[in-house]
Amino acid sequence: MSEFRFKYKDINEKGQPMGLFSSKAVLTRDSLVMARKTIPLVDVVGADGHSHNAVIVWRGPSGYANQEAFRVTSGGLKNVLRHVNSSCSRAKAARRKQQLIAEDKLDAYREWNCPECQSVVDLSGREVSPQIWCPYCDILVTQNGNPPRGEVSFHTCDQCGLYAQPKPMTVLYFWFAVVAFGYQYEIRRMCNVCMRKEAWKMLLVNFLFVVGVIPSVFQLLRAYFGGSKLSSAFRELDSANAAFHKGDHMTASMLYRRILEKHPDQAGVHFNNGLAQLGMGSTEQAMESFGASLNACINYEPAYGMLERLLHEAGNGEKLERLRRRCDGVDYVPAS
Ligand SMILES: [Zn+2]
Ligand SMILES: [Zn+2]
Repeated sequence: MSEFRFKYKDINEKGQPMGLFSSKAVLTRDSLVMARKTIPLVDVVGADGHSHNAVIVWRGPSGYANQEAFRVTSGGLKNVLRHVNSSCSRAKAARRKQQLIAEDKLDAYREWNCPECQSVVDLSGREVSPQIWCPYCDILVTQNGNPPRGEVSFHTCDQCGLYAQPKPMTVLYFWFAVVAFGYQYEIRRMCNVCMRKEAWKMLLVNFLFVVGVIPSVFQLLRAYFGGSKLSSAFRELDSANAAFHKGDHMTASMLYRRILEKHPDQAGVHFNNGLAQLGMGSTEQAMESFGASLNACINYEPAYGMLERLLHEAGNGEKLERLRRRCDGVDYVPAS
């Protein structure tokens, strides 16, 4: 694989780039070489980012997670994230394969290539499940039969943490002062329900200043008429998530179950249902839902994290041990 080069600037705590000049970074076969540090790719947990800023999380020799955040100034943010994730996932899968060869257990090696981001997901030693989760681009992919249309556009909303269909939304506020006018502009990634709240806020703030009203109305229409209603499998998902946001967990759970009656192997919907059960105070049912989520997708880390926490809190050591044996041990699962 040829080397990938990009330029970046360090950012301050507000996410703004610092300094006049960009630094150079090179992604080689086995490391990410930046101006002041070199990160071995096998230690990289993953890369994510938006609005031109990237964050790379990696595990240092002591096992603690470190992170490096920067503004991509040349090479393109999406390109940088895709190259880092794809390269680190390949390096980790290759290391796993070598370990298994050394232990004479090569038969246990199993990998999956994400069709969206071309990362390699190491599934060695894990049971086969109806869906596979890509930890790098956070999508759930149905493995056989007919995957629901548009399935890969659904993932966790950055704003509310529910499984949904987040999209970038331009948040635009105009204001006029006595002698000047200004505007505030940013792009955030959020689900339709979070988008509705933001769009209403935008419309109200911008109402007095005509210049901002047209984009606000457009975002409001997008928030109400786009989203999960366009997907037949997930038709009720936005309504369910909206009920969840209002604290009506019972309606939310009823709507999640309606989706699951038609599509029982949707790990993300089971996950949201588990959160709704928790909202109702039904810990046992919540654990069942997170368990069903893992049965649908054995490497779905959000469900694993919740179930592990609940079993730990309940002091159920035996089940916790069984869960860890079944689901842990793959390097991208963050150490607790
Ligand atoms: Zn992916
Ligand atoms: Zn949301």
